Amino acid sequence: MELLAIGAGPANLALAVALSESAPSWLVDSSLVVEQAEDVTWQRGMMMPWARSQVSFLKDLVTLRNPTSRFSFLNYLHSVGRLDDFINTGTFTPHRMEISAYLRWVATEVPIPVEFNKKAVRIRPVRPESGDLEGWQVTFSDGSVISCRNLVIGGGRDPYVPEAFRSLPAERVIHSTEFSERIGKLDKFGAHRIAVVGAAQSAGEMLWSSYQEFPHARLTLLMRSIGLVAYEGSKFTNELFYPSFVGEFHSSRPEARRQMLDEMYRTNYGGLAPDLLNSLYHQMYQDRLTGTERIDMVSMSDVTSTRMDGDDVVLTFTDRRTGQSDSVRCDTVLLGTGFVRSMPRHIRDLADSLGLADVEVTRDYRMVVPGGTAAGCYLQGVNEATHGIADSLLSVLASRSGEIAADIVRHYENDRVPSRTA
Ligand SMILES: Cc1cc2nc3c(=O)[nH]c(=O)nc-3n(C[C@H](O)[C@H](O)[C@H](O)COP(=O)(O)OP(=O)(O)OC[C@H]3O[C@@H](n4cnc5c(N)ncnc54)[C@H](O)[C@@H]3O)c2cc1C
Repeated sequence: MELLAIGAGPANLALAVALSESAPSWLVDSSLVVEQAEDVTWQRGMMMPWARSQVSFLKDLVTLRNPTSRFSFLNYLHSVGRLDDFINTGTFTPHRMEISAYLRWVATEVPIPVEFNKKAVRIRPVRPESGDLEGWQVTFSDGSVISCRNLVIGGGRDPYVPEAFRSLPAERVIHSTEFSERIGKLDKFGAHRIAVVGAAQSAGEMLWSSYQEFPHARLTLLMRSIGLVAYEGSKFTNELFYPSFVGEFHSSRPEARRQMLDEMYRTNYGGLAPDLLNSLYHQMYQDRLTGTERIDMVSMSDVTSTRMDGDDVVLTFTDRRTGQSDSVRCDTVLLGTGFVRSMPRHIRDLADSLGLADVEVTRDYRMVVPGGTAAGCYLQGVNEATHGIADSLLSVLASRSGEIAADIVRHYENDRVPSRTA
């Protein structure tokens, strides 16, 4: 196989489209996307019906690269007969579930096949005793193995579960990546005590969803920050999400890159969408008026340890202002603690097997491996440090997938692979 793409998220679906629109047919015909789940679902764990995408629908998988592509969000709406209605909503930000349905449509329409229920568990470089890397061998959880010359890893990032929560029974802790699937198992009318940890969009959405879904639940939001804040949304800094900014960021000096990431932090992390923030505040105010408060917010507090006491989960936290410890008792903990910032585990394992101390990619997202190599491994969505804050977002996917597709073809041409030049 010439190309295997792991993960059928937006990144690899965009790549499948870019290849189908720009690569030679022998490459398209020998490419495959594999997905561990049984279907394509965007943000499966956070599929609340009211949740919306935070970027414009024009930043779909193709439009910024090829506005005439048939794989646009608008063409999807047209194909399902919803274009009039969508225009009439007057919004640029579709519901999350609608982006998800668009991605599913792309997966069925794109000429590169997508295979489901295929979880990659091991990636190994294929290198003869002496000589250059020839390709990659990927083993799946069902025991099957696929060998390929080019590999594209687009599996997203690993969920971050802070140390303090790791010893709690798994059934009491729900990370945001599993929220939609697991929260529905709780009794809708139970008097649950739910603790939500975090102060960003995921924590806010889980708090709001649980408040609405469980009318008798009491909710406590625990956060290290001074309080919930909105995303920073200046149109000036939003220009740093343009695909054209990636090159500028990549060629900047390391200290400038760090400054840009630090200053841009609040545009994507550690904040809530303003409408969610307002909804939460007004609800809490209304509850105060009617004496029906059900949400507590505990700010400036670090959860330092957790334990079970009978059937209760006990979260012990330290108040940063006073240094004093206190605790919260609950039944279920919801973690809005985000994702591990370093490379995902399977990429680190691959780097180890290549003898690499650090994972580095070129401007075109190709992993840097020692020695001459015809085999390429491309990493999508994990290069924020070198390619900027938009790297894990939809904003750059249309362009990035075109760049990766072009780089793969360029390597074939440079390597003059004889059987491929015909
Ligand atoms: C709750 C939430 C909301 C978000 N909202 C927005 C938004 O509004 N706008 C925006 O631009 N970005 C948003 N993001 C950022 C998000 O990362 C990107 O939108 C986008 O999903 C990144 O695409 P991806 O393909 O790189 O990764 P993912 O979307 O994470 O897709 C990775 C895919 O790979 C599969 N996979 C993982 N490991 C394996 C394996 N070993 N074998 C096979 N398959 C595997 C997964 O099942 C998944 O389908 C949001 C993120 C979250 C968590």
